[in-house]
Amino acid sequence: MATTKKYSTDVAIIGGGAAGICAALDAHAAGAKTLVFEKRSEPGGAAIISGGGCCMAGTPLQEKLGIKDSPDLAFDDWMKWGGPTADQEWARFYLEGTRHDLFGWAEKHGVVWVDAKPQEGNSVVRWQRAEKSGFGLMTALIASYQKKDGQIIPDSEITTLTQDKTGRVTGFVGHNSKTGDKIEVTAKAVVVAPGGFNSNVEMVKQYKPELKNERVLEGSGFGSTGDGHRMITKAGGIVTHMDHVWFYVYATPDYRYPDHKRGLVFRLAPGNIYINAQGKRFHNEALSGGNSASPAILAQKPPYAWAVVDRPMIAKIEISDPYYKHEDTPLRDKIEELFENSPFIKTASTLDELAQKMGVDKKTFLDTVARYNKAFDDKLAKDPEFGKPLGASKKFDTAPYYAIQIFPLARKNFGGVKTDKQCRVVDKHYEPIPGLYAAGEVAGMAGGHINGRAGLEGTMLGPSLFSGRVAGSWAAHAAGHGKGFVGKPHRE
Ligand SMILES: Cc1cc2nc3c(=O)[nH]c(=O)nc-3n(C[C@H](O)[C@H](O)[C@H](O)COP(=O)(O)OP(=O)(O)OC[C@H]3O[C@@H](n4cnc5c(N)ncnc54)[C@H](O)[C@@H]3O)c2cc1C
Repeated sequence: MATTKKYSTDVAIIGGGAAGICAALDAHAAGAKTLVFEKRSEPGGAAIISGGGCCMAGTPLQEKLGIKDSPDLAFDDWMKWGGPTADQEWARFYLEGTRHDLFGWAEKHGVVWVDAKPQEGNSVVRWQRAEKSGFGLMTALIASYQKKDGQIIPDSEITTLTQDKTGRVTGFVGHNSKTGDKIEVTAKAVVVAPGGFNSNVEMVKQYKPELKNERVLEGSGFGSTGDGHRMITKAGGIVTHMDHVWFYVYATPDYRYPDHKRGLVFRLAPGNIYINAQGKRFHNEALSGGNSASPAILAQKPPYAWAVVDRPMIAKIEISDPYYKHEDTPLRDKIEELFENSPFIKTASTLDELAQKMGVDKKTFLDTVARYNKAFDDKLAKDPEFGKPLGASKKFDTAPYYAIQIFPLARKNFGGVKTDKQCRVVDKHYEPIPGLYAAGEVAGMAGGHINGRAGLEGTMLGPSLFSGRVAGSWAAHAAGHGKGFVGKPHRE
């Protein structure tokens, strides 16, 4: 028989991902009692399956690599790339915090920053990765919290915030998804950090009605279904810039789920070319980001494509999903299984046969590939049609050939719950709702819309970790512990 489990604490946190764990660490450091409620059996959220890369400016790792960077330079790139809807105040707050309050702080909790990678829109290399990617980052932070006796309560699906007569948030309720037991929590302050809504395609389409009749794939963490947005708006909070959804295109449906809603992102097949339903290339595939390839595929009619590869081109391919990886290492047998079984991946021993299986006009497709192959015969550095640099690619000459059907995949939410700079959720009058804080992707990564329409990459995980810290510190302060968030901005 289902029972009710009651908990009481200083700071109660919904969600054990990037923002939730950081909120817990800082609230705990301020002296507050904390409890983290996590919907799934394991904590980590989207963050633990992420690339583990953060956009950080002026770090010791950049200095070691000889990269000259500063928060000012990063801010200029950020605003140019994100456009007029990027939140300047939060962007500056975050970027000035990246050296000490993110890079240095995470190191103190056991995170090791190992390398850096260029990303579209950045004038210098500033995407910096944790050892073992998101898995390494989150296992270090979770271990650090648990070492301090920090508690994470799994299988706890929180559904509703509770408020007193004045509107102050006093806790929340939910249930244990395994036992059905009710959960009732009272707290002096609540941090809502349950991630975004990109694993809820109906909600994505609600905010992107132009895609209503198209196939769009779900691509965030399994728990990112918009629970926080629903809870907070019901409690009087507001959402903003909800149509700012960051799509990727190198994604194919996960055939293991019969509804084919969930997408799998593949990486490290630079030789691939995108072919539209008319059998033609339409883009420089080396530009595969959310601000380049995504608008290109969304402009196709219909908005999907085939990523065409030959056998050697998939030697290093990786699938960014826990089933296809052990920790950070790709599982080749599982990847082969995907190629053999997915109805969205066609295999053929000739390009002729491949065109037939893709259902595109054979002559158009064969001419397209022949023109692309000729660039290699002519020893060109770039393909003449779309300017793709050919250094990392090869001509199509080794069967079997594959065509992976790719669709727009909703990965990250750049809009969300509106908060002030202390991560206090604001109501329609832009006044804080007492006792209520939000951080991470539910808050468009930080504040509501820190990125604007486009992100420099690393600008999701980084701000989620950072805003989690800010929310946890101020929630602890509201509960009578600590001074609130005291950072060490890196300014020149
Ligand atoms: C495959 C992948 C790769 C990525 N790579 C990068 C990268 O390299 N760099 C980058 O900047 N960004 C990256 N991102 C985005 C980044 O991981 C997220 O933006 C970030 O993790 C958001 O942090 P969060 O704490 O808000 O949400 P999450 O990390 O998703 O954590 C939210 C947690 O809340 C739980 N939860 C949800 N609803 C409830 C509920 N009702 N009750 C209780 N718990 C609940 C979820 O189960 C989850 O554990 C990637 C995302 C994905 C999916």
